[in-house]
Amino acid sequence: MAARRRIGLLGGTFDPIHVGHLALARAAREVLLLDEVRFIPTGQSWQKSGSGVDAAARLEMVRLAVGPTPGFVVDDREVRRAGASYTIDTLIELRAELGPEPALVLVLGSDQLRNLATWHRYRELLDHAHIAATQRGTHPLATLDAPVEALLAAHGRDALPDAPAGAIVYFRMAPVPVSATALRERLARGERPAELLPPAVLDYIERHRLYRAAAGSP
Ligand code: ATP
Repeated sequence: MAARRRIGLLGGTFDPIHVGHLALARAAREVLLLDEVRFIPTGQSWQKSGSGVDAAARLEMVRLAVGPTPGFVVDDREVRRAGASYTIDTLIELRAELGPEPALVLVLGSDQLRNLATWHRYRELLDHAHIAATQRGTHPLATLDAPVEALLAAHGRDALPDAPAGAIVYFRMAPVPVSATALRERLARGERPAELLPPAVLDYIERHRLYRAAAGSP
């Protein structure tokens, strides 16, 4: 392990959490030598429209998926926070709690890196954390929008430096072609995509009848 503590932060709507998220967390932990990965479900997502499943249920599914996995932690601060969930607020809070020493590493799939310039106060994220991105499905890591390219030109590194924040790095993981959107569609059709969901999460979805098509719809 690296001398400076490295804490990975994996935010998401987790609507629902699936095997792609868990694979991302495992790959980030191994490749980036993270001491811990914190799963941080959004409370009120300001970018994604709701599926109808509330934050408490999304959080519970994250807890079920993570279970007692060593090195994985669930952080419910965004669900407890009133109003929209902004990552910058979470980073500032975590930095105040954890002090200046540990490296914070925001872990992102390439869809989110491509989207970064739409995030609230996105330039300030690197004052508080590193960003580590990995290729996901059909979202390339090349040909990014100009503002993200500019950030990369200033902050891109081959590997995480011995610093608490400030670098953007890429890391590799074996592709896991699954998205929550596709999963919700399959669940709404009455399918049972057991290979894409941790068993305890599938069980929770079935017991609470989540993601079912509304009565009357095809
Ligand atoms: P949706 O389909 O509703 O957009 P999602 O599957 O992308 O949902 P999120 O909760 O938005 O799930 O994702 C949280 C983080 O996990 C993001 O950084 C996203 O890029 C990453 N991620 C999600 N699915 C995968 C996957 N299959 N492989 C790698 N990264 C993933």
